Amino acid sequence: MSNDIRLDLGLRPVINVSGTMTALGSSIVVPQAIEAVSQSLNQFFEMGELYKQASKVIADLTGAEAGLVTASCASGIAQAVAGAITGQDLLAIERLPDTGSLKNEVVTLSGHMVGFGAPVEQMIRLTGAKVVPVGQATSASAYQLAASITDKTAAAVFVVSHHVVDYGQIPIKLFINICHEKGVPVIVDAASEYDMTTILALGADIVIWSGHKFLGGPTSGIVAGRKNLVRAAYLQNRGIGRAMKVGKESIVGVIAAMTAWKSRDHDGIRARERAALEVWSQALDGKPGVTATIVPDPTNNPLERMKIAIDPQQTHISAWDLAARLAAGDRPVIVRDHEVEHGHFFLDPCNLHPGQEFMVAERLTEELDKAALANDIIEMPIEEVWLAREASILNWPD
Ligand SMILES: *Cc1c(COP(=O)(O)O)cnc(C)c1O
Repeated sequence: MSNDIRLDLGLRPVINVSGTMTALGSSIVVPQAIEAVSQSLNQFFEMGELYKQASKVIADLTGAEAGLVTASCASGIAQAVAGAITGQDLLAIERLPDTGSLKNEVVTLSGHMVGFGAPVEQMIRLTGAKVVPVGQATSASAYQLAASITDKTAAAVFVVSHHVVDYGQIPIKLFINICHEKGVPVIVDAASEYDMTTILALGADIVIWSGHKFLGGPTSGIVAGRKNLVRAAYLQNRGIGRAMKVGKESIVGVIAAMTAWKSRDHDGIRARERAALEVWSQALDGKPGVTATIVPDPTNNPLERMKIAIDPQQTHISAWDLAARLAAGDRPVIVRDHEVEHGHFFLDPCNLHPGQEFMVAERLTEELDKAALANDIIEMPIEEVWLAREASILNWPD
């Protein structure tokens, strides 16, 4: 036994500078949640009552009438949409995804039909709903939204995320107003947003967060909003929600994480994150072909990242090959590489254990110095990068 369970399992001790990624185990769970999870595991609970307690904590944190803990934000979307379709009709709940004669259309902006590891719109379709896209990927207008709402519309889904097209979209307040004029509830996917009150205050009927992202809870989803819609989402536990069951440990753990969030030392965390960015700035200072800039979060979360742009002519390595080399070997550093084809990646300091910022700096200088000595430019054709990504998952479990 080592004191790192990853080594015991034969896994590499990855350092995460990519953000809160499902593929890496999401986030560092806060000590209060770890303790609560551990205390819950060998006890029995009246689960209906535990859900009620969680509802109170969510209501208190968000200003909503009620709240529901789900297995994840993705299942929160599915359960909330299902609830908007069935209401409290227990038979209708059992019949999903067959929606019978119920309203079953869900409108959403084309520019919001993004992937977070799976398609947002698939979480809607899981319920049996039909997705009605509004506008084009890069533009959506009020008249298009209004015309897409019919007497079959059960709900509207809006996504707040760095994943969505970030221009040309109907502003959230206008989106809500148009839907409400037509009597349609608005469900907002705010999985990664730190702010837990504003969107509800704007009038959204349901807002959903991940419990395991910035909150540092165990894997879970938090659904907050109008009591009748939250109740209808809860009742899906007797239907499609059962395939997305959340355990006692996650409910107890996310309650602890929400409680801890209120007294978290946010300024102290920001200061530690800025110190990490400073370490990396110094390590990269003067490296030819490397431009490091500090950039704000695209959806205004209180978090800054380092953007590292690579000029392969000078560094002798492409941004994607550098990212791959950092991720290889026995001291893997996983960077935020979702825009790497543009020749840059990001370092996200929000999931570091103390001291890991120095390891990241060391690996960066090591790989850059190695590449600088190469005679040829290390650059896998981007077409091959694309195909290799697909190929690697298709080989699982080999
Ligand atoms: C992460 C994310 C999700 C999925 O959240 P889970 O809790 O992992 O299911 C959904 N939507 C957006 C915008 C996300 O960023």
